[in-house]
Amino acid sequence: MKQRLVILGGGESGVGTALLGKESGYDVFVSDNGKIKKKYKQVLIHNTINWEDEKHTEQKILNASIVMKSPGIPDSVDLVKQIRKCGIPIVSEIEFASKLTKAKIVAITGSNGKTTTASLVYHLIKQDLNVGLAGNIGCSFAKQVLDNNYENYVLEISSFQLDDIINFKPNIAVLLNITPDHLDRYDYKFDNYIHSKFRIAMNQTKEDYLIYDADDEVIVNHLKHHPVQATLLPFSLVKCVKNGAYLDNQNIRITVNNNDIVMPINTITLEGKHNIKNALAASTVAHLLKIRKQTIRESLGSFQGVEHRLEQVLKINKVQYINDSKATNVNATYYALECMTVPTVWIVGGVDKGNNYDELFSFINEKVKAIICLGIDNKKLMETLGNMVDVILETQSMNEAVKMAYEIAEAGDNVLLSPACASFDLFESYEDRGRQFKDAVRNL
Ligand code: ADP
Repeated sequence: MKQRLVILGGGESGVGTALLGKESGYDVFVSDNGKIKKKYKQVLIHNTINWEDEKHTEQKILNASIVMKSPGIPDSVDLVKQIRKCGIPIVSEIEFASKLTKAKIVAITGSNGKTTTASLVYHLIKQDLNVGLAGNIGCSFAKQVLDNNYENYVLEISSFQLDDIINFKPNIAVLLNITPDHLDRYDYKFDNYIHSKFRIAMNQTKEDYLIYDADDEVIVNHLKHHPVQATLLPFSLVKCVKNGAYLDNQNIRITVNNNDIVMPINTITLEGKHNIKNALAASTVAHLLKIRKQTIRESLGSFQGVEHRLEQVLKINKVQYINDSKATNVNATYYALECMTVPTVWIVGGVDKGNNYDELFSFINEKVKAIICLGIDNKKLMETLGNMVDVILETQSMNEAVKMAYEIAEAGDNVLLSPACASFDLFESYEDRGRQFKDAVRNL
């Protein structure tokens, strides 16, 4: 009898897994508590895959041999608890799909910088290698395994994906940083979240590599107490490392297996310290994969960044408008403010995930000339930041926020949207927020 694969969540990763599962001989059923998008329904129908939406029918689910759960569904949901009680294994898409490919896997995780670094790695290696880019980006990993069968994959991986791996074993793992995020999914214990991030290395052996930020105390501390099997390749902005990558004056120096490459740092187009870190990590991956120095250098220079991450939108009356809508936590905004070299009108706010703004205070004092709070509830921001700047305003409309910023900003200033908060109070997603910002700027 066929093994039964039940998929919870009919989004990009769910439908990709359904197709791959069907092709691999499973009896597949997709169940989504919400509404499945029309385009995905059409795919399921076209491929004669059974599905339901706006409900979960237990008798069609608890008879599964294996369940693939979308990363958006928390463990606290009753149905998930029941599945576990029945002893049915629950896996994530990366676990399921990685079993069905022999490709080399580069897996990138961290609290911030995953998409940027994964896209950069892809950009550095795609000329020379047959490679797919997946994770939260574009087409699902499972679908690419089915359709493209690449020899290499660069995967952006969240902690939720890592929570449901069993044997997933990346050849190269990158751990960019760990700062508090998504704690509502980890019993509000930072330690649980740290452990989740380190699962990226749990099945690695010494033939595999773990590239990590040696300046990140959380990572270094954890490694001290929980050593991993993988060969370690740290990167650092402040100290010299024997194996790994660091800043040597104005050069990036990368050493892997006694093989050195050195490149001037000014070839990097992306701005900000955080992006130099991302570039160190990405170039180390490229060096491990034997990409030529010349190619790495040229590609670092041609990488244009990713939409909604410190994206330069327009200059109007000598004021630069910058879209950093993807900054959905304080740490991401920290790096955005750090990058500002001129007086800045800062648009901030949205759904506060229990933020502590203290670490931003010195940048606010130094660089921010006005604050515009953009959220349904701006009380906390107004109270916390109100006496730090001369001008603090609030609004519930992106158009109005941009108009306010336009009135305040003078030639030579920046207007920065870097919300430090999630977007769901006023927008569909951070992409929607970023696009509305750009439209409002263009309409000025
Ligand atoms: P993720 O995929 O992990 O959410 P992104 O690449 O989408 O990360 O970037 C999210 C936000 O974090 C953006 O505002 C970006 O400017 C900022 N960011 C990018 N890289 C880093 C980093 N290494 N450390 C801190 N913040 C970063």
